[in-house]
Amino acid sequence: MKTPAQPGSSLYDSDVFRMACRQFDLAADLIGLDSDLRERTKLPKRCLTVTIPVKHDDGRVRVYEGYRVQHHLSLGPTKGGIRFHPGVTIGEVAALAMWMSWKCALVGLPYGGAKGGVAVDPRALSPRELEGLSRRYMQEIIPFVGPSIDVPAPDMGTNEQVMAWMMDTYSNQVGNSVPAVVTGKPLAVGGSEGRREATGRGVAHLVKRQLEALRIPLSEATIAIQGFGNVGAEAAVALRGHGAKIIAISDVSGGFHDPRGLDLDSALAHAASHRGGLAGWKGGDAISNEALLELPCTVLIPAALERVITPGNAPRLKCRVLAEAANGPTTNDADRVIEARGDIEVIPDIVCNSGGVIVSYFEWVQDLQSLFWTRAEVLEKLYGLLDRAWEAVEAERRRLRCPRRLAALALGIGRVAEAKASRGLFP
Ligand code: GLU
Repeated sequence: MKTPAQPGSSLYDSDVFRMACRQFDLAADLIGLDSDLRERTKLPKRCLTVTIPVKHDDGRVRVYEGYRVQHHLSLGPTKGGIRFHPGVTIGEVAALAMWMSWKCALVGLPYGGAKGGVAVDPRALSPRELEGLSRRYMQEIIPFVGPSIDVPAPDMGTNEQVMAWMMDTYSNQVGNSVPAVVTGKPLAVGGSEGRREATGRGVAHLVKRQLEALRIPLSEATIAIQGFGNVGAEAAVALRGHGAKIIAISDVSGGFHDPRGLDLDSALAHAASHRGGLAGWKGGDAISNEALLELPCTVLIPAALERVITPGNAPRLKCRVLAEAANGPTTNDADRVIEARGDIEVIPDIVCNSGGVIVSYFEWVQDLQSLFWTRAEVLEKLYGLLDRAWEAVEAERRRLRCPRRLAALALGIGRVAEAKASRGLFP
């Protein structure tokens, strides 16, 4: 059902933007957010749209459209990934920037949220074309980014190599190496130990905590994961490390299922030699992305696109825990179905997948001070921040007597609003 567009937001108007606004409104109502603070805490501060000409290997020039949205500037630079995906729109990027704001505030990082994106299928590009696109996108947004302005990172369809090209492009422009301009870089150019696996490990850590609270041994847990990119694959590896059984995985080409457990090493090796994809793997029964969501399992992990759990499939979910590794995988109406069912524990996205931006923050700090930490130091600090956020969400949930998602949003949004109130309104 469509709700009316938000005031002043026609540029972003879309299902996903309305979803983020609705989440904001519910949390703002719950904490009684002052009406003078509401709209300015909710709506994105600024955005940039760029056109990106890329010379393809066939000699032709194609032009792609890209965006960068910065949601709020009240706590420090803005922070968030860059997505290369054919479905990217400015409304989606704006919603993702809002979720970044609340995520960073919830886990205590000194950032506002941002997100970038280009409407492109990166798998259809040659490595040379991908480099051209990555460099030209960064070139176009240079006036809008910088270590104390806005710090991009990987997201769906981008990776360490893309970040290295972007860091190089920015550095060439200013005349010296600026590693702190992006995070998620290779170790060789100022990346951090532990960043690549941070989101997946964080997901696994919180799943472990939730299962312990439910007194379900990890050795008896079955896991279904939608999305086998960096986040889904690393979550699978980490959960297997905790003793759980991965029974289903999928990517854009479709999925695989085996209730006895999949051979994860074989899937990882196949993806590594097929540009990250599972197509053509022979490791289980074929299953669609939609059917995967409805498999009987202990933990369901959507780790791909937003809005995949809807009122249509929410009544048929057969998991005990829904761990949201993706941003915004559950629609507002599906949330209501899940709340009414009362038999699924949700680990909401802004806490569940926060490990990525937490270690991005560590990377930025290390780059700024040119002093690098060991892997053990990074992981210990990561789990420390995740535990603190998780315990804060649980305490807020008890205090407000509300679902876990609303408690997490209330904490994140409340902190952004408090920063705005403290700084006052200029002029
Ligand atoms: N794209 C990731 C996210 O959605 C990571 C952002 C970052 O590391 O800045 O949280």
